Amino acid sequence: MGPSAAAETCIQSDHNNWSVDKAWKEDWFKKEVSNQFLITDPAICQPGLNLERKDWTLLNRFRTGHGLCAATLPDWGIRDDPFCACGSKQTMLHIINECPLTKFPGGLHALHAAEHDSVTWLRKLSIC
Ligand SMILES: [Zn+2]
Repeated sequence: MGPSAAAETCIQSDHNNWSVDKAWKEDWFKKEVSNQFLITDPAICQPGLNLERKDWTLLNRFRTGHGLCAATLPDWGIRDDPFCACGSKQTMLHIINECPLTKFPGGLHALHAAEHDSVTWLRKLSIC
């Protein structure tokens, strides 16, 4: 077997053992991602994929912890203070887990399920 045939055998061997799902999962779990605990299998569609775009977008902002909450708006010069109407710093996690004015029963885990009550809650918020 010449060098070319050996290289081809090696490539085919690697190709046969490689899968995009396996590679994606390995890569996903190696990284530090906000609220990574929500995603037990990154290779499947997450709950709520069939929601209207505005609901899906806001749901994913809560999942990632990055959204248009008061804590981030001063960084963009859109707002002067980072505080919620309750007086605490308004992060995405504050809105869903802590705020006496807005918290979602069951918190982020329950919201992630994207059930009917999740969508109802998302639509009542004054953020987008
Ligand atoms: Zn609050």
